[in-house]
Amino acid sequence: MDLFAEIDSDAEQKMTRAQGLAMLKAFLPLAGRAYAGERNFDKGRGQHLSVSRLSPFIRRRLISETEILQAVQSRHAFSASEKFISEIFWRTYFKGWLEMRPSIWSEWLASASSAYEDENYLKACQGKTEIACFNEWAEELRETGYLHNHARMWFASIWIFTLKLPWQWGAAFFLQWLRDGDPASNTLSWRWVAGLHSRGKHYLAKADNIERFTNGRFAPYGVLDEGALPIMASDPPPATEPAWPSAPPQNKYLLLLHAEDCLVEELSLPAAPEAVLVLPGSLGNMALGEPHQLRDKSLDNLDDEALSDAGARAAAHYNCPIHVVQGQTEDSFAGGIYQDIAKKLVEFASQYQLGNMISSYLPVGPIQQNMAQITKSLGAEGIECHQLVRGYDRICWPHAKRGFFPFKENIPKWLKTLP
Ligand SMILES: Cc1cc2nc3c(=O)[nH]c(=O)nc-3n(C[C@H](O)[C@H](O)[C@H](O)COP(=O)(O)OP(=O)(O)OC[C@H]3O[C@@H](n4cnc5c(N)ncnc54)[C@H](O)[C@@H]3O)c2cc1C
Repeated sequence: MDLFAEIDSDAEQKMTRAQGLAMLKAFLPLAGRAYAGERNFDKGRGQHLSVSRLSPFIRRRLISETEILQAVQSRHAFSASEKFISEIFWRTYFKGWLEMRPSIWSEWLASASSAYEDENYLKACQGKTEIACFNEWAEELRETGYLHNHARMWFASIWIFTLKLPWQWGAAFFLQWLRDGDPASNTLSWRWVAGLHSRGKHYLAKADNIERFTNGRFAPYGVLDEGALPIMASDPPPATEPAWPSAPPQNKYLLLLHAEDCLVEELSLPAAPEAVLVLPGSLGNMALGEPHQLRDKSLDNLDDEALSDAGARAAAHYNCPIHVVQGQTEDSFAGGIYQDIAKKLVEFASQYQLGNMISSYLPVGPIQQNMAQITKSLGAEGIECHQLVRGYDRICWPHAKRGFFPFKENIPKWLKTLP
């Protein structure tokens, strides 16, 4: 039976919870030993069936880490599914690591904006280099919004060590196109490849490894710099404990929905909201040096699709009205301030005669930065915005102070207790 017959190709996936759950169900039989044995093979465009391709859904929390971990455990012994489980926790680890060192994100953002003028940068993004596999991956990324993990590693390594382009620009190219683009996983993976995450340990793409794990589709012998040294830079700042927000008051409130968390019916809210306000997907974008934005506009639409799905579920679950807050897309980033969205939120607050809004927690990234501007404007009107942290993040993230291996030691314990 073709388990994936019902599943759309990457570029066609609908960004809904139903689609994410269907993909999880289809992938579940493969999440054990099959995944451990096959996950490193990049079988080419449209053939990534040995990995889950769940990342765009997890990224927006259309499906949660907890439910994936539970589903996997109900199907496979830990010994068989350990590899898949630990990949889910790589994501959690990176989220926690960046949350405790937010300056890594702002420094990256500041250094990425100079990329667009550079001819070699543009050639690499257009897949016009002398390296066939690299060109294919650049095209696959732009056309499908997905790259296999091993291809991401090879691509980033060739970008940094063979093409000698700044890693920050490569991270910008990925965020521009990836359907699962994530400030933590992306920035920190690029740093990891460069040798900046585990100091002095870099990832070098090698022709024999590419030949083996692409099943011979590519064999770039003699064209890669396989002996390059890691990038040197100063140590990252020390971790500071996440500054978790305090619990929201018990007052009546409006629920704000953003694309960092599209599963709000799972949140431990103080009571049902008076209404759900769905924020625009464009909040996930931001200016990366005028006239460029962080990501392609199609990804704003993808977030809108996820938010529309999440809004309908939330309104049904809490039996309350739903409103879509439309933000102007043209010139929204002028000054980086979403005054038009703030204005609309003030109008809703006045319509419901409420001074409280609650959203799920906003981790480091563009939505947090754009929302900070909006929250400031709301504060000036006497409207308070509170954030609710998921138990999963609250428990796991503070353990991401050092490397993945000490973090990983907690996994067996967490699997028994995680909310
Ligand atoms: C340079 C580079 C950039 C990357 N940028 C992103 C990004 O922007 N967003 C993103 O979600 N992942 C990123 N990754 C991690 C990883 O490549 C993707 O999560 C994975 O390829 C998604 O495909 P999948 O869902 O089929 O993964 P599967 O192999 O099926 O894994 C299941 C889930 O585990 C998580 N996961 C798997 N591998 C990793 C990993 N190495 N690091 C963190 N989480 C992981 C993802 O949520 C993934 O959906 C990056 C990796 C590299 C090397």
